Amino acid sequence: MIPFLDLYKINQRFEDEFKAKFTSFLDSGYYVLGKNVTAFEKEYAAYCGVTHCIGVGNGLDALRLILEGYIILGDLNKGDEVLVASNTYIATVLAIKQAGLIPVLVESERNTFNFNLEQLEASISEKSKAIMPVHLYGQLSPMKEILNFAKSYNLLVIEDAAQAHGASNNEGNYAGNLGDAAGFSFYPTKNLGALGDAGAVTTNNSELAVVVKKLRNYGSSSKYVNEYVGINSRLDEVQAAFLRIKLPLLDQDNNRRVEIAKKYLSGIKNEKIKLPNFNNSKDHVFHQFVIQVAERQQFIEHLKTNNIGTLIHYPIPPHQQEALSEYKNLLFPITESIHKEVVSIPISPILTDNDVIFIISVLNSYN
Ligand SMILES: *Cc1c(COP(=O)(O)O)cnc(C)c1O
Repeated sequence: MIPFLDLYKINQRFEDEFKAKFTSFLDSGYYVLGKNVTAFEKEYAAYCGVTHCIGVGNGLDALRLILEGYIILGDLNKGDEVLVASNTYIATVLAIKQAGLIPVLVESERNTFNFNLEQLEASISEKSKAIMPVHLYGQLSPMKEILNFAKSYNLLVIEDAAQAHGASNNEGNYAGNLGDAAGFSFYPTKNLGALGDAGAVTTNNSELAVVVKKLRNYGSSSKYVNEYVGINSRLDEVQAAFLRIKLPLLDQDNNRRVEIAKKYLSGIKNEKIKLPNFNNSKDHVFHQFVIQVAERQQFIEHLKTNNIGTLIHYPIPPHQQEALSEYKNLLFPITESIHKEVVSIPISPILTDNDVIFIISVLNSYN
């Protein structure tokens, strides 16, 4: 049996270190916003190459607090429009709404699972004030084009980097350091995953960093003095401790993901399976390996019969979710067809070469 993702096996590698860290965490008697959070923020900022990292409760809050921070700073105003790709995970859209801004969904591109750049141009209005590229499935968005576009329309660029820890561009700049600010999630399934919920904001903007740091903690910087209407979304101390143990292995895990992706790309030969684009650069860390198959359910059954797990990222696009019914009359034919045909196959760093060979043979025998 090859499960889609074996989280226990991934974390088992760190078991002794986790236990030792937990013991010292317990013994410290200090459980919220302690030295592990501060240390992780420093280490993750250094990893991404930014000056500031603020640990928060999860990825959704990371994105939301960036936007609320910009509203407090006066760079955004309630009711401003934010451009976002229509095939993103719903969290990106929810963060925009929760901050009192208006998500403008932009049709996506079939080959890249990202913005269609012409559609982007067509979606701009006088109220557009920010753009949120999502590095979906671990592949960087076309940041050069997006940054040029943002510059010509004076938009803030906020990366949703929740799936792209460690992805870097040709200049060696990392996800989290490619726009004005970025939101990360360390949900257990992500490339860098905690043992519970966790997230972070990265930015080189000191003013924004100061505001977000207050917003995550009731809008307060000194105890019982509250400057803003903040929320409670602090990176948990024990999760920060675990993340510090896992961060040094992130690059190695990402390299293994890419190695598996290369084996898939050269080994899978089946007309019925459309493989993802990959340009052999470090801009893709394969959070997911997403293929497209016309008769998806049949394909999933074939893998199931052979004891291989799959998942769909994602079965329903944001504009067709009940929670976002204001968008239900919009049509995004490419996004909709992507959602009908995508399937993710296992790409966990702990897969063995034999697992990968077996998966390839099962995919090649599908007809
Ligand atoms: C996981 C994810 C989020 C949200 O992260 P949580 O920690 O679950 O809140 C946001 N955007 C994308 C693209 C994600 O994959």
